[in-house]
Amino acid sequence: MSELEVGKKIIIIGGGLAGVEAAYQASKRGVAVDLYEMRPETMTGAHATGFLGELVCSNSLGSTQVTSASGLLKEELKMLDSFFLRIAEKYRVPAGSSFSVDRVKLAEAISAEIEALTNVQITRQELKEIPNTEVPVIIATGPLTGSDFAKSITDITMRKNLFFYDATSPIIHAESIDLDKIYMASRYEKGEADFVNIPLDEQQYNEFVHDLTTAEKVEIKEVEKDIFFDACLPIEEIARSGEKSLSFGPLKPVGLIDPRSGKMPYAVIQLRQDDLNKNFYQMVGFQTRLKWGEQKRIFCKLPGLEKAEFERYGRMHRNSFINAPLIINKFYQCKLKNNLYFAGQICGVEGYVESISSGLAAGIFAAKAALNEARYNLPETTAIGALVHYVSQAGWENFRPTKFSFGLLPDIPAAQKGRGKGSKKMRKEAKAALALETLKTWLTKAGI
Ligand SMILES: Cc1cc2nc3c(=O)[nH]c(=O)nc-3n(C[C@H](O)[C@H](O)[C@H](O)COP(=O)(O)OP(=O)(O)OC[C@H]3O[C@@H](n4cnc5c(N)ncnc54)[C@H](O)[C@@H]3O)c2cc1C
Repeated sequence: MSELEVGKKIIIIGGGLAGVEAAYQASKRGVAVDLYEMRPETMTGAHATGFLGELVCSNSLGSTQVTSASGLLKEELKMLDSFFLRIAEKYRVPAGSSFSVDRVKLAEAISAEIEALTNVQITRQELKEIPNTEVPVIIATGPLTGSDFAKSITDITMRKNLFFYDATSPIIHAESIDLDKIYMASRYEKGEADFVNIPLDEQQYNEFVHDLTTAEKVEIKEVEKDIFFDACLPIEEIARSGEKSLSFGPLKPVGLIDPRSGKMPYAVIQLRQDDLNKNFYQMVGFQTRLKWGEQKRIFCKLPGLEKAEFERYGRMHRNSFINAPLIINKFYQCKLKNNLYFAGQICGVEGYVESISSGLAAGIFAAKAALNEARYNLPETTAIGALVHYVSQAGWENFRPTKFSFGLLPDIPAAQKGRGKGSKKMRKEAKAALALETLKTWLTKAGI
């Protein structure tokens, strides 16, 4: 880094999804990056490797369709040359219309690519506090930020960090699944028949719901009870909310005709391929905080999983985030200390693609600050712009981490709304087209 001009440098703390995307974006603009990552010396409760950019739970980055929220956000990120998505494309596994990847191979490749960047210096060390510097610093320590570093954030932001609970879902060894009792299919036959489907009849479904709702859970402190995030509710909590909740939720059978009977089962449990070699399958939507022994007891009662071997059981985690509307502006920049930026889940966005999106934007904005270049707000009509607009401007009293949704985009003119059947799709198409068009104009204006 010595030959680089002093001042053309940023610091990034956390080499997760947001951190690596930010590092690439700054590096590509000729800005040197000091990247701090605490793994493998200090692990979090959810990561399994020391690789950078590891996906901690599901291996899905959501739908590829531009009329879906995640699909539109990904399309925009591609236009912005997202490093993470470019590498992820190479490690996709078959999963219908969902963009799913081999998590370990992807993280390995992400690490190798970042390590190969000559102006990025990686230090494997846990930072206990925010460095005292005037250099732009991106805080991308993620939802599992440790208590020392979290305290250092509150010292600067003068606000207590917030938190909620969520959980991971179990992963099963493929060879331990009894193939005679399941069938392969994708919902509505989109893509190949990529998912393992476990059909349940009404009696099996009711027994399963009973087991889930009466099983032993990992307890959490009385004062913190029921602080779950609704986008990631544990399967047993969904089951408790009503007898049919699962059959209309993660176990919905629509579009999953069993080819052996030609009929739609009462409910279906899906498992998605988790790695390129098809060694592992992940239970879709099965985040759980049941005790591990209970997971084995209950899931092994399911047809085809009688002899299931678990590569990983579901677990619960406490997720921290800042009260973003009080703390950051539309550049993901701290209002109280201008050289600080927040990116990833800690800044109040929720989900893999949203974390990448905030890392990409914060990386560009921090790099532009280091280069003393003009910066332009992202348009609110784009997914990436609507997301930062929301987290920086939402009401702070009940602020919760936010996924991108079409509802965050401004309304479209009445003439484009359509009426009756199909109008919802038309509205999404119109909003998506406008988003991509305005992003294109912004790219030119902002010199990206
Ligand atoms: C248990 C769990 C399951 C989740 N499942 C999903 C899911 O299935 N789908 C989805 O879309 N989203 C999921 N999320 C939400 C979120 O999308 C991911 O957490 C995502 O990884 C967030 O990206 P990030 O870059 O903010 O954080 P991370 O990817 O966690 O990266 C943060 C990095 O900072 C490092 N770090 C932390 N503190 C320090 C420090 N003091 N010094 C140096 N390094 C540090 C960590 O080791 C880590 O590598 C889940 C979150 C959790 C906690």
